[in-house]
Amino acid sequence: MASIKVLTDVCTGCESCVSACPFGAIALNDDGVAQIGDTCTLCGSCVEACPFEAIELTKDEEKTVDLSMWQGIWVFCEIANGAMRGVGPELLGQARKLADELHTDVTALILGDAEIKDYAPELIARGADKVLAAVNPGLKELNDIAYTGVVYELVQKYHPEIILMGATGFGRSMAPRVAARLRTGLTADCTILSADTENHLLQQTRPAFGGNLMATIICPKHRPQIATVRPKVFAPLAADETRHGELIVENVNLPKDILIETLKTLNAEGEGVSIADADIIVAVGKGIGSAKNIALAEQLANLLGGAVAVTRPLVDLGWYGYTHQVGQTGKTVAPRLYIACGISGAIQHLAGIAAETVVAVNNDPDAPIFSHAHYAINCDCVDFLQTMVETIKDKGYKAV
Ligand SMILES: Cc1cc2nc3c(=O)[nH]c(=O)nc-3n(C[C@H](O)[C@H](O)[C@H](O)COP(=O)(O)OP(=O)(O)OC[C@H]3O[C@@H](n4cnc5c(N)ncnc54)[C@H](O)[C@@H]3O)c2cc1C
Ligand code: SF4
Ligand code: SF4
Repeated sequence: MASIKVLTDVCTGCESCVSACPFGAIALNDDGVAQIGDTCTLCGSCVEACPFEAIELTKDEEKTVDLSMWQGIWVFCEIANGAMRGVGPELLGQARKLADELHTDVTALILGDAEIKDYAPELIARGADKVLAAVNPGLKELNDIAYTGVVYELVQKYHPEIILMGATGFGRSMAPRVAARLRTGLTADCTILSADTENHLLQQTRPAFGGNLMATIICPKHRPQIATVRPKVFAPLAADETRHGELIVENVNLPKDILIETLKTLNAEGEGVSIADADIIVAVGKGIGSAKNIALAEQLANLLGGAVAVTRPLVDLGWYGYTHQVGQTGKTVAPRLYIACGISGAIQHLAGIAAETVVAVNNDPDAPIFSHAHYAINCDCVDFLQTMVETIKDKGYKAV
């Protein structure tokens, strides 16, 4: 086990380590000696910061993995309720680019009952060289434990060097389980994936420290390298029906002791267009003033055939559901049109917008959102929504 300790007889109480710890894990005790608390992640920053070599970090001996055994990029394509999540083809497109640079191949991994084999032509058209279909009637419903067990066994058999998964609700639950079973690393919510062709590594970039900087993470000593990416971060490749590929069917056994039984799957977003799929989004922030005013945004979204999105404060206030939150800790959306009403334009909100056109409505002419918008409307957003709703109704306009 890795461990860290302060050599109390060497520590001078200079406090250099206190400010060096990014996790706030060090404080001086009553004797004026540094004391390391439970939030320590063993990152080692304090060891380097201590001018007196008073902190000792002992790391586990690293097992060496024969990296040459691991080849190919897998993309886990989630299929549920008879439909494939869009993030699968999006990741296939990105995997295709990486595979071409790393001179390897792309496999779409799908799990389900015998019918999932029907997805193979579409996955090949979207960039897969192979489709690996793990088939068992017990995989028809998404189940973290069953899926983790099956993916683990398949990885042991085929040794992919990279696995990409969608950061959907299910992907966010399964990816860390798979990574932990395989004793390898995982980078969640990547926004950029690139290839280090010299060292044959996946560079996994994601926002860190509240979105204030971008961190590029590599996994040089363990395999596979696993990353999750949120829906809509990458665009899928156009389907190319002329592509050829191979379908491999594995009739798999389920792991024993599956502790979760899926009784019923409910759509947390309810009826209507999901913000992840919407072409037009009417988004509201705190400038909307009250929960009841959001009804105006709903009316406009209905008239335009779109969906309502919100900023995080509205979710925190209980004004709207989390499934409608856009941003770093919400969803990434890629509509044709994003109408941002009473939204300041914080980096954490902007991180979730990949829209073709952004229209910002704000009563502050200096609002940061205006620097990120294609059209800036400097007015009261409630007036704007009311006027839009009335005008569209009066004139009978339709969104095209
Ligand atoms: C780790 C972390 C993760 C986060 N994740 C997210 C996330 O996923 N999504 C997210 O949205 N936020 C997120 N946040 C919060 C983020 O930093 C901002 O606080 C938030 O986006 C601000 O929301 P807002 O624009 O609605 O509110 P405010 O920043 O309060 O802005 C309100 C805006 O409305 C304007 N306004 C006021 N009245 C009117 C009016 N009558 N008409 C027109 N305009 C008006 C004001 O000028 C202002 O620009 C996160 C923060 C942290 C620290
Ligand atoms: S090892 Fe890292 S997390 Fe732990 S006390 Fe030192 S600086 Fe803080
Ligand atoms: S930096 Fe070193 S000497 Fe200074 S308080 Fe921390 S452990 Fe003690």
